[in-house]
Amino acid sequence: MDRPLFLLGVLAASLGAVAQATAADAPPSAIDELVAANRVLAHEDIVDGFGHVSVRNPADPTRYFLARSMAPALVAAADILSYDLDSNALDANGRVSYAERFIHGAIYKARPDVMSVVHAHTPAVIPFGVSDVRLQPIFHMAAFLGAGVPVFEIRDAGGPATDLLVKNLALGDALARTLGSANVALMRGHGMVTVAGSIPEAVFRAYYTAQDAQLEADALRLGPPKFLTADEARSATQTQAGLVSRAWELWKRSASVARS
Ligand code: MN
Repeated sequence: MDRPLFLLGVLAASLGAVAQATAADAPPSAIDELVAANRVLAHEDIVDGFGHVSVRNPADPTRYFLARSMAPALVAAADILSYDLDSNALDANGRVSYAERFIHGAIYKARPDVMSVVHAHTPAVIPFGVSDVRLQPIFHMAAFLGAGVPVFEIRDAGGPATDLLVKNLALGDALARTLGSANVALMRGHGMVTVAGSIPEAVFRAYYTAQDAQLEADALRLGPPKFLTADEARSATQTQAGLVSRAWELWKRSASVARS
């Protein structure tokens, strides 16, 4: 057998050995977009060395893709793993998973409409998870916050002495219950989770949730802010649905992600 045929045989054999859907079987665009999201979130300072973003497998709603445990800015396609909705890695091959992958699996299980999840520790949102001041849409770009911003209190589900991390199924389910039908949930003393029907929109929501938090904190120093009304928030959310790609293309360019 000549060398190319031999290599093809090896490839076919190794693919055949993997019975379940793995990251290697994913449509290339989903993996490319997920890698881009990791780099964009890092470049825009929504995540730092920590935080993560996932996508539901477009070809199998019972699976999702998430990078192995590493800094988002450094994620490449080869770092993406496939998980079931209990957040068991299906193709880890010794690679380490994020401790908080349960955030993703639990939300995909509870929310069939959600295709992408971002988890971040963005500093601007933290004050609104630890005080009685609610995070609300203060400008049109964060109109999606009008659906409500529940705060996850891990003490209610995990007792008084957790390390704050959502690192098992029960805590993931509790977080998903707190999120309910909202687009964003804050996590007290920890960060936030944003969800959407696509990767660009989940990133968009993370980005503008952080901006809204900063702006609301600024406005509170001047006096009681005037927030978007529920009607304004609904109307602006509809307008924005068609504009996510404009920001997404810019962010990919800024983060030096090759056009896909
Ligand atoms: Mn975290």
